[in-house]
Amino acid sequence: MNMITNHLPTAELQALDAAHHMHPFTDSNGLAAKGARVITRGKGVWLTDSEGNQIIDGMAGLWCVNIGYGRKELAEVAARQMEELAYYNTFFQTTHVPAIALAAKLAELAPGDLNHVFFAGSGSEANDTNIRLVRRYWQVKGQPERRVIIARKNGYHGSTMGGGSLGGMAPIHAHGGKIDGIEHIDQPYWWGEGGEMTEAEFGLARAKLLEDKILELGADKVAAFIGEPIQGAGGVIVPPATYWPEIQRICDKYGILLIADEVITGFGRTGNWFGSQTFGIKPHIMTIAKGLSSGYQPIGGSIVCDEVAAVVAEGGEFFHGYTYSGHPVAAAVALENLRILQEEKIVEHVRDVAHPYLKERWDALTDHPLVGEAKLVGLMGSIALTPDKAKRAKFASEAGTVGLRTRERCFANNLIMRHVGDRMIISPPLVITPAEIDILIERARKSLDESYAGLKADGLL
Ligand code: PMP
Repeated sequence: MNMITNHLPTAELQALDAAHHMHPFTDSNGLAAKGARVITRGKGVWLTDSEGNQIIDGMAGLWCVNIGYGRKELAEVAARQMEELAYYNTFFQTTHVPAIALAAKLAELAPGDLNHVFFAGSGSEANDTNIRLVRRYWQVKGQPERRVIIARKNGYHGSTMGGGSLGGMAPIHAHGGKIDGIEHIDQPYWWGEGGEMTEAEFGLARAKLLEDKILELGADKVAAFIGEPIQGAGGVIVPPATYWPEIQRICDKYGILLIADEVITGFGRTGNWFGSQTFGIKPHIMTIAKGLSSGYQPIGGSIVCDEVAAVVAEGGEFFHGYTYSGHPVAAAVALENLRILQEEKIVEHVRDVAHPYLKERWDALTDHPLVGEAKLVGLMGSIALTPDKAKRAKFASEAGTVGLRTRERCFANNLIMRHVGDRMIISPPLVITPAEIDILIERARKSLDESYAGLKADGLL
């Protein structure tokens, strides 16, 4: 089937796709009318589509292909592991070498005493695990009423019922509801919501909302706070420098568990192994996925500190787990990915080469008439599109109109850059070279120019 369908003409593939494949986060009828772009190959930072276009992937897939596409070593490890032991579970007093080795490796890489790993198949599942873990922790500690988890509006933690509820995205809540015991506070988005405050003041003000919420609910009701070091799907919102230290202080003060959702920021994305290191956060639990295997296999997990793991263990059996927790093929591939990240010094490449080079070129985009602020931490960046930089103004058109039009120009110019509302975001593979950064920027600028001209022509500016 695979080889046959690979050789079908694009239009036929698109018709089959429209007839049978339900896409995530997609307006199916809208897509069917247009036809999905069919991606056929990947190598390094480059994708090829069924029409032979060479596309530069400014998003590393969905923020995950950290080591780039097409690494044979991972395919070989997967094939070997499938032959040796394709599957076994870790439920009933059994284990296997890939899960052991990966857990031990993660304990070595993760900061502080984050020494214990509960595996999942994805970031969403791992966050569902976290909900149970923190509630179980407080039950065993004799405080079962501590079960509320505080999260942020416009945060993203997945789209299972648990992950989607932790996330603060109203459209997700609107489709199917939200589980109980989760509260949201406003996000630290200075450009969009900072008003007249300085960034530093605003960071503190938004962190203080956590304390207000704890006092409103009663500290004896609150189990944990969860946040992404940098909000990714919310638009690459980099918090003011004052934000995380204050959040940490408040969690410490009230003895609230801190969960850092590192699904995007883990494994080199911010120029350190984990975003928590970049922002000085000391979490009790880290959510991981994506870059853990560079997307070559679906795998996620929760890295848990000594104390939380010990308390949960004290409680006896923890009634939770997934068929694919610690899947041997996924674990073996993740281990090989970590070996490559480490031996090829890819995190150092981000910190010392790719980030500094991209930063200079990314910041320079602010000379474009459409671009307000430019943010870049490691290789995770965003630009705010605006009709008036000084006022940090929004467009008169519906939010996201200009972003979508700009993204479409990027697509047409064979650059994958996403939009969230009227922010454009990038998260390229970590192996991107300066020469490839030049191409990315050249295509981004061309797309911005075309978008600008189109907006003018259509009377939207
Ligand atoms: N947390 C964060 C911060 C994410 O960005 C994502 C995915 N974009 C998730 C959780 C969910 O991960 P998954 O899609 O693997 O379930």
